[in-house]
Amino acid sequence: MTVVDELLRPVADVIDVPTDLYVAGSWRPATGGRRLEVSDPATGAVLATVADAGTEDATAAVDAAAAAARDWAATSPRHRADLLMRAFHLMHERSEELALLISLENGKALADARGEVAYAAEFFRWYAEEGVRLRGQVGHAPSGANRLLVTYQPVGVSVLVTPWNFPAAMATRKIAPALAAGCTTILKPAAETPLTALAVAALLEEAGVPGGVLNVVTTSRPGPVVEAMLTDPRTRMVSFTGSTEVGRVLLRTAADGVLKCAMELGGNAPFIVLADADLEAALEGAMVAKMRNGGQACTAANRFYVHASVHDAFVEGLIARMAALRVGPGADEATQCGPLVNDAAVRKVDLLVRDAVQRGARAMIGGRAPDGPGSFYPPTVLVDVPPDARVLREEVFGPVAPVVRFEREDDLLPVVNDTDLGLVSYLYTRDLARGLHLAERLESGMVGLNRGLVSDPAAPFGGTKQSGLGREGSTEGLLEFLEAQYVATSW
Ligand code: NAD
Repeated sequence: MTVVDELLRPVADVIDVPTDLYVAGSWRPATGGRRLEVSDPATGAVLATVADAGTEDATAAVDAAAAAARDWAATSPRHRADLLMRAFHLMHERSEELALLISLENGKALADARGEVAYAAEFFRWYAEEGVRLRGQVGHAPSGANRLLVTYQPVGVSVLVTPWNFPAAMATRKIAPALAAGCTTILKPAAETPLTALAVAALLEEAGVPGGVLNVVTTSRPGPVVEAMLTDPRTRMVSFTGSTEVGRVLLRTAADGVLKCAMELGGNAPFIVLADADLEAALEGAMVAKMRNGGQACTAANRFYVHASVHDAFVEGLIARMAALRVGPGADEATQCGPLVNDAAVRKVDLLVRDAVQRGARAMIGGRAPDGPGSFYPPTVLVDVPPDARVLREEVFGPVAPVVRFEREDDLLPVVNDTDLGLVSYLYTRDLARGLHLAERLESGMVGLNRGLVSDPAAPFGGTKQSGLGREGSTEGLLEFLEAQYVATSW
């Protein structure tokens, strides 16, 4: 069977993945039997249908999470860690199947999907280890009158809302710390990529996570379904990854119930190449920062600022690398750049490129969406991009690299920091002290200093300004799902 034949088979024939809602430890259809179609962005073909939940199903999931909350919080950290470690091993065993599933429903190249599965599994391992290392504190009150005891309690029922661009990793980055902390959860994955979320749930079920601890609600109507969960008085936390626009909506909804909020929102990452940078390293880093997932990452390098003395050499190297990428269906082993997630994403990228060109930018390669089938956009390099081009101010979310030439480092900072978003910045220089000095003045939660990849389960991932609230990964990601309780005591 050829790759194309393989891709045209219904996904259920290729991979054993449940397609119903997962509530209270059982797989069940949505109320009224509604279904939602999941398509392959490489062909437009329907891969499968999954249950399409309504608000009654959302409430049933909160019922299940609330019913399981007390018993789960009472389990030992070691028990929870053992289950998470089992999930880590199962995810590794299933990595090829999961990677294929991600490529099929999301479109990303298999190599990227494999990378995602490995990254996603690491959250289970990291939080299995981290969950048993949580320490409280005990100390004297400054007055000397009494002692201060601090311990951590699970925040309670947590609603986890995830995007389509990393359907496995964005789910495990939330599920693992929540479960390690002793919280019960409801995962609401993106409608474009529900199959991966359901496969992750099946894996946790197999690992032995009890019914009700993780529930999964797939839906085509995220607004009312998430609202029903956030306004339910039993819900205590919302952890969201997605656009800043939707993040704002959820923060407003969460305000009424004064929910704990963790928000991982949009980015607009600058990629800065100073005159003394190692150019080969900068180009390698640029390809990782720009092209992981075909540019559909919140951490994607959105705009390149390259010192005039190395600008032409950098552009030449970038064009050569971008032009050499093989574009095709993600699930085809030879592909290096898959399609975008859907046609709307292609239209948005196309609009931003056209706007830049109208304002005077030049497309050195790419720059035009091909005719269908599939939601493809070619790797594109833009030069002479003027400061008012929308592509420098808005998240591109596609394989487009706009390059801006700069002369003076002092002029650069106000320009790169002139954005409401502050997720990550990339900086290349051979002078480490200079790099660290500049990094401190970059307004972003993360900096890749001579690195095109910052994500690591052991590091606090998150943004400043309108890129988010809170952090995921590291100990900080665990603390998001905990409340400090302090006991004033005398003895
Ligand atoms: P999105 O905001 O459209 O959707 C994210 C999730 O929110 C999905 O599950 C969606 O169904 C749900 N949603 C949409 N409208 C909703 C509503 N009214 N109420 C409740 N839920 C709603 O984002 P997307 O297009 O899926 O993902 C791309 C965005 O995610 C980009 O902006 C990207 O930067 C961001 N992102 C951020 C991070 C991070 O860690 N900071 C990671 C990945 C993606």
